[in-house]
Amino acid sequence: MQALRGTQDILPNDIYKWSYMENIIRDLCALYGYGEIRTPIFEETKLFLRGIGDTTDVVTKEMYTFEDRGGRSITLRPENTASAVRAFLEHKLYGDQGVHKLFYIGAMFRYDRPQAGRYREFHQFGVEILGASSPLADVEVIVLAYRLFQKLGLQNLELRINSIGDKNCRNAYKKELISYYESQKDMLCEDCKQRLYKNPLRLLDCKEDNCKILAKNAPVITNYLCEECHNKFEKVKSGLTALHISYVVDPGLVRGLDYYTNTAFEIQYPPLGAQSAICGGGRYDKLVEEMGGPDVPGIGFAVGLERLLLALEGQNLIPNCPQKSSVYIVALGEKAEIEGLKIQGELREKGVMTYMDLQEKSLKGQMKQAGKVQSIYAVIIGENEIEQGKATVKHMQTGEQSEISFSQVADYISQENSINK
Ligand code: AMP
Repeated sequence: MQALRGTQDILPNDIYKWSYMENIIRDLCALYGYGEIRTPIFEETKLFLRGIGDTTDVVTKEMYTFEDRGGRSITLRPENTASAVRAFLEHKLYGDQGVHKLFYIGAMFRYDRPQAGRYREFHQFGVEILGASSPLADVEVIVLAYRLFQKLGLQNLELRINSIGDKNCRNAYKKELISYYESQKDMLCEDCKQRLYKNPLRLLDCKEDNCKILAKNAPVITNYLCEECHNKFEKVKSGLTALHISYVVDPGLVRGLDYYTNTAFEIQYPPLGAQSAICGGGRYDKLVEEMGGPDVPGIGFAVGLERLLLALEGQNLIPNCPQKSSVYIVALGEKAEIEGLKIQGELREKGVMTYMDLQEKSLKGQMKQAGKVQSIYAVIIGENEIEQGKATVKHMQTGEQSEISFSQVADYISQENSINK
């Protein structure tokens, strides 16, 4: 049996890399005042139809949807924003009219074409701010993502930002866009021909060659922003500039749905090639309403953790796993095993990592094992030791040996400086 295509195991030898990233993320989120939220891995399908939009690729082509035994349509979450908003509404967190800053780390599922940096089960770290309309919130989430990557040591990041305005200014823009593309409709791919009237903004990020060429000369949204949206965008940009965060304005960075508003951004790490986007986010001021809630603005982003890990490994930015010093108890015979168990318990109480043979190996086999796991000490208990009531404590590197009464072994070892706990 094998793990399914697009999924992967993370084995004990690699898990420290994940802990390393997650610890830095958690520390940073605490510093910025974000509280962790954990939502179910599966939800009612209609949550995602509404919360992501039923014309998006994620919803039409990539969801893991199935019927459960009760005949309900269930979907494995392809992202976490819709669930976070559902929880925000279900628990009436909006009741205090305050700002809610949330973060999550978890597995997401998309029926994507697997390749390096693209999987069917992958992990995201993301944040959402609900209840904050100020462009300062946009600046804050962008800065948080940026500082995370900086803290991890990544350089040469590319931050791309755009504003897609609000519904009103976008409507005027959409009209322009449709008339631009209409005159060259024959060059469009079949998908784009279909979505030209339904969702013209999506033509701008189509990956087909001809569509890419047309997109280059298409009218740009930033020329159609109303005064209010323009001013908001200016505030975001001046906040980033004040914090010395460089960015590129990319008018092709769009999100096609009406509940997305104003700021859209992406952080790319170019050495990752085709899958260089490590973070994507933006403002969604109309989503909470769209999902049946009050008029509460939102903004957030999601970082792909597998991609982040690829980037960090590519630059040797993951520190080596800290090796914990240990003690190996070598016990021969039933009585020795009982004494060994007791000493192991006492050492563990004192915070000293302690191994004992679990495979009924010979003395030689156990000593070999102690070497293999690089224990600092071997505590040897054989027949002689049982008779004397003393264990032989051997320093594995110097070979130095001392006879120590069973009841003193844990104190003796834990007082030694060479055992760091
Ligand atoms: P999105 O939720 O589509 O805005 O994606 C946010 C981030 O999640 C992207 O920038 C990627 O880093 C990551 N991501 C999205 N889809 C996948 C996938 N199939 N496999 C791995 N990472 C992904």
